[in-house]
Amino acid sequence: MTVFDHPSFDKHEHVVFHSDGDSGLKAIIAIHNTVRGPAVGGCRMWPYESEAEGLADALRLSRGMSYKSALADLPFGGGKSVIFGNPATDKSERLWRAMGRFVESLGGRYVIAEDVGTSPADMEIVRRETRHVSGIAEGGSGDPSPATAWGVFVGIKAAVRARLDSDNLKGLKIAVQGLGHVGYELCRLLAAEGAILYVADINREQIAKAVKEFGATSVSPDAVYDLDVDVFAPCAMGAILNDETVARLKAAVIAGSANNQLAETRHADALRTAGILYAPDYAINAGGIINIAHEGPSYNRERAFAQVSRIYDTLQKIFARAETEDISTATAADRIALQRLIAAMDNAA
Ligand code: NAD
Repeated sequence: MTVFDHPSFDKHEHVVFHSDGDSGLKAIIAIHNTVRGPAVGGCRMWPYESEAEGLADALRLSRGMSYKSALADLPFGGGKSVIFGNPATDKSERLWRAMGRFVESLGGRYVIAEDVGTSPADMEIVRRETRHVSGIAEGGSGDPSPATAWGVFVGIKAAVRARLDSDNLKGLKIAVQGLGHVGYELCRLLAAEGAILYVADINREQIAKAVKEFGATSVSPDAVYDLDVDVFAPCAMGAILNDETVARLKAAVIAGSANNQLAETRHADALRTAGILYAPDYAINAGGIINIAHEGPSYNRERAFAQVSRIYDTLQKIFARAETEDISTATAADRIALQRLIAAMDNAA
C-alpha cells in the first residue's frame, strides 16, 4: 500500500497513521490542504475491511472537504479522520480520549467533528483531550443537521428557479430519499411551503411519522427512482446516481444532502444530457460546515443561517458557469473551488 502513488492522493499535506495500544485505537488523519485555514472535517468510524480501504476514504474525503469549504468561501482547509472499528461495539472512553490526544498532537492543523459512525457524545469525550473539536452541543454550534437541511431547502429553490423558472415550491412534487436528521427537517420546510411530498426510507417508523405530520405519500426505497416528480432530494446514501438510476429518473432537478451522490463523475454528464439539473452535493450540503464556521462564544444562529442561505447564490453561480462553459454542474463546482484554492495558495506564496 502506498500513499504518494495512491489514485486518491492529491498533494495532501499530511497523512498520519496512529495506533494506541491501550485503547486499541487505529486511526488515520488526512490533511489535504490548510492554505485557507485549519483542516476541518469529520471523523468516520467504520469496520473497514482493509487498511487500504480506510486510507482511500481518508484521502478522498479530506480532499472533498478542501473543495467544500473553498466553495462555501469558509476560512477552512480540508481534512478527515478515519477510525478502524465497529461503531456499534468498539467505542470506549479510552478510545475517544486516545483519538483526542491524536488530534491534539497535530497542534490545531486538524479540527475534528462527528461523521458517519461518530456522534456529538463521542466528541464530548474527545474534547477532554483537545480543544480542536467542532459541532459539539455545549459551547459549540450543536447538531449541524438543521443548518444542512436549511441549505438544501434554499438550494432546491435555486435549482427550481434555474430549471423550472419559478420561485414557488407550492404544488411542486418533491421526492425525499432518507428521513434522517437532514431529510426529515427538509420535509418540514418543504411541507410548510406547500410542496407535495413523496418519501422513501428503510425505516418504517420515520415514514409513518412523515405521512402523518406532512401528509406525505410513502414510496418503497426502490420505487423512488421512478417517480414522476419535479425534484428528487437524495438525503440518505452515496452513489445513488449511477448507470441504473440515471436512466430511470424523471425529475427535472436533483438536489439533496447526501454526500458523494455521483457513482462516477461521468454521471454528472449523463444527467446533463438527460436535461436534469443536478445541484452538486458538496455545494448544496455545506450548511452544516457553514454553521460550524460561526461556532464560538458569540455564536448567533440567525447570522449563521443567513450565511447558509447564500448557498442559493453559490448554486446560481455554478449553474451559470456550467451553461457558459458547456460543462456539467459538477465540473463547474470543481472549477470554482479549485480556482479559490489556487488563489489562496498564490496569496500564501
Ligand atoms: P441519518 O443517518 O440521520 O439519516 C439517513 C436516513 O436514510 C435514515 O433515516 C436511514 O434509514 C435512511 N436510509 C438508509 N438507507 C436508505 C435507503 N436505501 N433508502 C432510503 N432511505 C435510506 O443521516 P443524516 O445526518 O440525515 O445525513 C443524510 C445524508 O446527508 C448523508 O449522506 C450525510 O453524509 C449527508 N450530510 C449530512 C450532513 C448533516 O449535517 N447531518 C451534512 C452534510 C451531508
